[in-house]
Amino acid sequence: MPKYTPVIGMEVHVELKTASKMFCDSKNGLGLEREPNVNICPVCTGQPGTLPVPNAQAIEAVQLAGLALGCTLRLDSKFDRKNYFYPDLPKGYQISQYDQPFCEKGKLKIGEKEIGVTRIHLEEDTGKLIHPKGVDYTLVDFNRAGVPLMELVTEPDIETGEEARLFCQKLQQICRYLEISDADMEKGMMRCEANVSLYKEGADKLSGTKVEVKNINSFKFVEKAIAFEIERQTELLDKGKEIAQETRGWDANRGETVSQRKKESAHDYRYFPEPDIPPLKFDENYVENLRKKLPELPEAKTVRFGVEYGLPKNDVEILTADKDLAEYFEEVASEIKEKIACHEIEAAGSLALKLAANYIITELRKHLAEHDHKMADIRITPENYAELVGLVACGKINSSAAQIVLAEMYRTGGDPSQIMEEKNLAQLDGGDAMEKMVDVVLAKNESSVADYKSGKENALKFLMGQVMKESGGKANPKSAMDCIKKKISS
Ligand code: ADP
Ligand code: MG
Repeated sequence: MPKYTPVIGMEVHVELKTASKMFCDSKNGLGLEREPNVNICPVCTGQPGTLPVPNAQAIEAVQLAGLALGCTLRLDSKFDRKNYFYPDLPKGYQISQYDQPFCEKGKLKIGEKEIGVTRIHLEEDTGKLIHPKGVDYTLVDFNRAGVPLMELVTEPDIETGEEARLFCQKLQQICRYLEISDADMEKGMMRCEANVSLYKEGADKLSGTKVEVKNINSFKFVEKAIAFEIERQTELLDKGKEIAQETRGWDANRGETVSQRKKESAHDYRYFPEPDIPPLKFDENYVENLRKKLPELPEAKTVRFGVEYGLPKNDVEILTADKDLAEYFEEVASEIKEKIACHEIEAAGSLALKLAANYIITELRKHLAEHDHKMADIRITPENYAELVGLVACGKINSSAAQIVLAEMYRTGGDPSQIMEEKNLAQLDGGDAMEKMVDVVLAKNESSVADYKSGKENALKFLMGQVMKESGGKANPKSAMDCIKKKISS
């Protein structure tokens, strides 16, 4: 059997979260409005005689994405008409960009591999057709018509479904860092299409016929649809059959791609310069000012977190995956440093930071997921979070009790010391109460005491367990152990 290598290029559309639509002042509700046709006007419904006015915020968003991906920004650009008929496209054409996209020639790194970004351009989204069940008519909702849509096209540098998924996830992360889109695939804010072809060993890389796969609405399906397509094409080629150049849709229920239509080529669209919008000119000064607006991007943040907080790579990756989570951690970290400086926390900074990261990564994220919350929903102030970390770091509360306090803080936004006292969760760390508890346990377990004296180390563990139980889990294990040993040997 001949060996085939997959070649994959992605086309990704991202809805931009601007205040208004692309060419009019209708509110941009991303097409997620509850009621149909509420955010519409004569421009986005394509009434004759109306004129489009480009949205500067949308243009800037696309250019920011371009800078973040190392693209060159074109100083001369324009919009073009892409002509096709579809009932959700009232003008009979889409305003898009053809040969002068805002951004060209960038790249995105996934792990060690670089994926080339061919271009990023700006266009308008279409409306939506609604097919009500049990009736013989179709409705159209123009809320989404004219929503600014960024389209990014990659070089055919991708070789597996997994790489394609990682690319899309990374792109989502960057869009979120730039705050140009939430890029939620499940909500249609980000739509990924995969072009897939195979070439035979020894043949030219682009010699295979490419198939475009659409209708992919989750990262998992990006990977699955491509894997399916690679397998389908391999089987056809093995049987000596031809691959049809076509558009296929991913059918999530059947777990396969299904033929939709034979693909049009660019000349079918009769692109021509949009006569209602003059060409756009930018200068170096404009580009440099835009560059200054770039936030710290995921890669840079990841490197800095490693250096600045001395955290392991895995922890850093989780913290920086979400910009808001990363910012929360930094606020907590800065509170911790302050508390250490003024001796409110008597512990090593590195230990406290490590604890803070651990509690955010495991506990806080658990609560977020359980409640389907975003960081913006969090009621725990970084100051209170730092205080809780301080209580753990100084041994005033043990980790199981800290989890209980954190859960309560999450619920009420309350103060950790107060919750600890109300729930009587302070750690027993030596002192009279602990001495008494140990006395009780030793008196009840004379045979274990004798065992320990005769050299059986296990007996000590048992006694420890009894003290922990007696204290309701609040005894500091180390001081309990010291106390037991002291009493037995005296
Ligand atoms: P079209 O004009 O058909 O849209 P493009 O050249 O614009 O084709 O490429 C569209 C996408 O297809 C790009 O992401 C590109 O990387 C990818 N692509 C191009 N050639 C191939 C190929 N032989 N196999 C897989 N993907 C390809
Ligand atoms: Mg295309």
